[in-house]
Amino acid sequence: MTGMVQVQLDLSNPQSHLLGVQLRFEAPQRNQRVSLPGWTPGSYLIRDYVKQLEGFKAHQQGQVLPVTRIDPTSWCLDADPDGGPVTITYAVMATELTVRTCHLDQDHGFLALAAVVLEVEGKRWQPHQLCCRLPKGWRAFVPLPQDGMGAWLASDLDHLIDSPLEAGTHQERSFAVQGVPHRWVTWFADPATEAWFLERHPQFFDDVERVCMACCRLMGQSVPASSDYLFILHLLDEGYGGLEHDDSTVLVYGRRNLEAENGYRKLLQLIAHEYFHQWNVRRLTPAELRPVNYQRATVIPTLWFAEGVTSYLDQLLPLQAGLTSAADYFKDLGEDLSRYFLSPGRQVQSLRESSEEAWVKLYKADAYSASSQISYYLKGAVVSLCLDLHLRRHQSSLAKVIRGLWQSHGRHRRGYQEADLFAAFEAEVPGLAALLSHWLMDVDDPDCSGYLLDVGLALEPEMSSHPWTGMTTRQDAGWLVVQRVQRHSPAERAGLMVGDELIGLAGQRLHKPEQIPALLRAEQNQPLLMARRSTLRELTLCSSAPQPKRYVLGPVAAVTAAQQAAQEAWLQQRAG
Ligand SMILES: [Zn+2]
Repeated sequence: MTGMVQVQLDLSNPQSHLLGVQLRFEAPQRNQRVSLPGWTPGSYLIRDYVKQLEGFKAHQQGQVLPVTRIDPTSWCLDADPDGGPVTITYAVMATELTVRTCHLDQDHGFLALAAVVLEVEGKRWQPHQLCCRLPKGWRAFVPLPQDGMGAWLASDLDHLIDSPLEAGTHQERSFAVQGVPHRWVTWFADPATEAWFLERHPQFFDDVERVCMACCRLMGQSVPASSDYLFILHLLDEGYGGLEHDDSTVLVYGRRNLEAENGYRKLLQLIAHEYFHQWNVRRLTPAELRPVNYQRATVIPTLWFAEGVTSYLDQLLPLQAGLTSAADYFKDLGEDLSRYFLSPGRQVQSLRESSEEAWVKLYKADAYSASSQISYYLKGAVVSLCLDLHLRRHQSSLAKVIRGLWQSHGRHRRGYQEADLFAAFEAEVPGLAALLSHWLMDVDDPDCSGYLLDVGLALEPEMSSHPWTGMTTRQDAGWLVVQRVQRHSPAERAGLMVGDELIGLAGQRLHKPEQIPALLRAEQNQPLLMARRSTLRELTLCSSAPQPKRYVLGPVAAVTAAQQAAQEAWLQQRAG
């Protein structure tokens, strides 16, 4: 069909881990450019997918086309505009098992199509057709409509790239949410896990449906935003993550996580998080992502809203669905608040900076990051809690603001600017925009305790029983090695850095991290023997008084009737 880009994928040789790709299109330009995306929306890191691409060739009328490489991700084809369709072939090495990369082996195939499909310049907004060659007995699961002939149809390149592909012999499970079709497919990396999982959680699909309905209710919608939704779950031994799409999500979860006391609850929260993204970020989208620039990093000052609000709500949604208790919610929220208040980087990087620097900081964290960075997921969730409780003081709520933004922007697919967020909060409570601006641009903490008191809760520190050094250590090939050194800490003052080998403290030979706390004497100079590269050094460590090791969220001593009422309204997400 003229104007359509045809994409054929060949997964029929999975043991090679090589995915064959063929692109065919008509009416090429004379100097036809094609390029491979550098990243995939939702995961803000330039991944250089092109490093997995090999054997690039282009043909027209049976002749090899001369090709010029313009940059590492782009090619220019010397095509004849009147010479008929152009065919491009190449292979993609699929050995990286994450939600935003490709993996193909004898057990299954998973493709993030940003890593696979070239953008044909001038044809990004043309329909794209997808066909697949699969090993015998395999099926492919793709969140795209089918044409009745075995092919899938995407309205344009962005639609295709937004459609992950899972393939294998796995079974699909269908269910409806408010009458809207949903499909669920799980790849159990260890086939024995399937029976184990379903035996432990026979009600799993009912629970998923309830979480989905809770998301719709929170958005004030009778049906989901998507009209046909696909869940893909990779259930591995270990792992945690998700990636959101318009009509699907890809989840990774570990069996070991599931075995933990809070493991099933955390899985429901992950499902709620990614499902809620079909509104917040996929359709209610920062203007900077409309349209997406696949070739370069885009500064998005409002990523905290996309991820922080969703992270705040993902803990509340299973509670709304009636699947978890208020006590569990307080435990999970307390853990997040604890992580936040124990993150020294929150006093260095503002929330807005964290959003803007996602590409080079959050996604490239190293051993020093904790001292200089704060996650926009984590602080974004803390600010969202404060926003919700502030709005509730004024008979409004965060959900009301999100629904308003959905009406003004999301449902029309109009991207929002940071100023639109400020205006939406200011319209609910005069003065809130200034307060939000302070929370975004400055590094001092919002008054969490004051807001929590509104709902009868308090965050209490739990003190460590040992002096504080500000370092963590780990065993590495038999050595005791410094893993982290907090800025302005006793360990930093002593002269330690990440990677140093610790040999002795206070006259004792060191072997294991557990030995250190018992040897520490607060406010006393203690000799420390260590090695860096090939040199031994004697340092002096002066640890300080014990610090909080965590914070716990619980009810205040005497909860008033007003606090109780405010807490119930908040937990049920009724307007304040
Ligand atoms: Zn997210």
